[in-house]
Amino acid sequence: LPPMASEKDAALAAVPTDSPTIFDKIINKEIPAKVVYEDEKVLAFRDIAPQAPTHIVIIPKVKDGLTGLSKAEERHCEILGHLLYSAKRVAEQEGLEDGFRIVINDGPKGCQSVYHLHIHLLGGRQMNWPPG
Ligand code: IMP
Repeated sequence: LPPMASEKDAALAAVPTDSPTIFDKIINKEIPAKVVYEDEKVLAFRDIAPQAPTHIVIIPKVKDGLTGLSKAEERHCEILGHLLYSAKRVAEQEGLEDGFRIVINDGPKGCQSVYHLHIHLLGGRQMNWPPG
């Protein structure tokens, strides 16, 4: 994609697939990431194109078919809860006591560009509603 491509362009160009994504490279330490939180199941790192003073992406270390939330099945309930609780802990760690925003983009219309489930944690500025 050209450097000026927007996140929406990236999302519309992204092909929904269960193949490895750039997030696997981050998990495997093949490319660097600013990791802010990690446990045996999840990894949290700073978004490369931050949309707020704090913008962190929280992902499961094992994808297990979770290309996105729309692919979730009963067996994923535990990791889904763990991801959300981890997001809360990272928000605390980042000092976002006045509030924050959690976002999960799903599919082309949801502006998803990386097909490995992830939670966005955004904070450090006033958020707006409705989102764009
Ligand atoms: P999505 O649009 O919800 O799929 O979010 C994907 C996010 O991953 C976007 O906010 C990107 O900026 C971010 N991203 C893509 N590649 C990298 C990377 O290599 N490091 C950190 N964040 C990335």
